[in-house]
Amino acid sequence: MNTGNQVNVVVAGGGIIGLFCAYYLAKSGFKVILLEKNDALGQETSTHNSGVIHGGIYYPPGSLKGELCIKGNPLLKRLLEKWKAPFIVRGKLIIATEKKEIPQLEKLFLNGQRWGIPGIDLLDKKEAEKREPNIRVEKAIYSPGTGVFDQGRLLKILEIKVLAENVDIVTGAEVCGIQRTPDSLVIDTKRKGSVSTDFLVNSAGLYSDELARICGEKGHRIYPCRGEYLTVVPKKESLVNGLVYPVPTPNSLGLHFTKTVDGELWVGPTARYVQKKSDYETDRITIEMLIGNARKICPGIDVDDLRLGQSGIRPKRYNHGEPPKDFHINFQAKEPRIIHLIGIESPGLTASPAIGKKIDEMVKSVCSG
Ligand SMILES: Cc1cc2nc3c(=O)[nH]c(=O)nc-3n(C[C@H](O)[C@H](O)[C@H](O)COP(=O)(O)OP(=O)(O)OC[C@H]3O[C@@H](n4cnc5c(N)ncnc54)[C@H](O)[C@@H]3O)c2cc1C
Repeated sequence: MNTGNQVNVVVAGGGIIGLFCAYYLAKSGFKVILLEKNDALGQETSTHNSGVIHGGIYYPPGSLKGELCIKGNPLLKRLLEKWKAPFIVRGKLIIATEKKEIPQLEKLFLNGQRWGIPGIDLLDKKEAEKREPNIRVEKAIYSPGTGVFDQGRLLKILEIKVLAENVDIVTGAEVCGIQRTPDSLVIDTKRKGSVSTDFLVNSAGLYSDELARICGEKGHRIYPCRGEYLTVVPKKESLVNGLVYPVPTPNSLGLHFTKTVDGELWVGPTARYVQKKSDYETDRITIEMLIGNARKICPGIDVDDLRLGQSGIRPKRYNHGEPPKDFHINFQAKEPRIIHLIGIESPGLTASPAIGKKIDEMVKSVCSG
């Protein structure tokens, strides 16, 4: 690349969010270039997660997380169907395993009703056990619209779709600097030169706070929070039919059971703040440390039925013990040529097409203003 290249939008970060931003912007007619620091797309958070298409029940009224998850859920399913990418709408139970958890569960159900999430229902013990005979449950929320999909497959398809819209994808291109001229921004990369653009979209995931700082916007910080999984051995996979979640904790949706699109049964993720954004493996939690939580939901699971699985790192905007924060999706202060997406943790995967559309609308609003 060199500064002779002039585009309308540079998207920095080639995870699912950057790809959907590039897709919708290019479909609107903008000339887009997508810069990714790694040598391939989708190597970070977008492929290290549960692959669940969430319903949106958890998120506070008025939040971007709720709004974009609820918009993203049907949109993502429509695209997966159209693009023939594997997904299954399995439905999900959020369960109170003890009577004392029921008030929190009912509060969550009310929140879901306020958001107008289609088809959610409160099930008593018997009704819940009909769906999941091997779990310990007192009462449950049933969310029929929750699904699972193959994120890796979607990312590959999206790459092809984005290329078909004439987006230039440059990998090995870490954005490391920005220069301003009256008419444009010049985006510098470490190994692949520079490009001149009207707009910059910062979708750099775990590193979006650092890129914001490079752009001159201070005050953002990402706290990496690792989630670790266990997998259940094939002969015990039938213990759980769909998705089973406990009542959530402030940091995560809680250690849950997920039947993946391939029929594997995963337990997790945990939630633990780590020092380094790239530290997926140091000091992994052991099966023995997690068996208690797993057996609380599914008493038929034994230590011998579990193996260590993958892990992922949440790009959180809040540290341990602090109240949860919403997605930050906004123009840079006094600089509508730059849009930052920061703290796109769960339900970012579900919300991703809705986020892509939102960014396209934001860029158009500046062009028409
Ligand atoms: C354990 C776990 C479970 C989850 N489960 C779910 C779930 O079931 N359902 C759901 O909806 N969501 C889930 N999520 C959230 C979801 O995975 C994320 O919201 C989503 O993947 C974020 O995508 P992204 O594109 O913003 O980030 P990423 O995939 O991390 O992409 C960011 C990209 O930016 C690149 N980059 C960084 N810095 C630069 C730079 N300076 N220049 C160029 N490129 C750069 C990175 O290399 C990376 O490829 C989960 C997350 C975790 C961690």
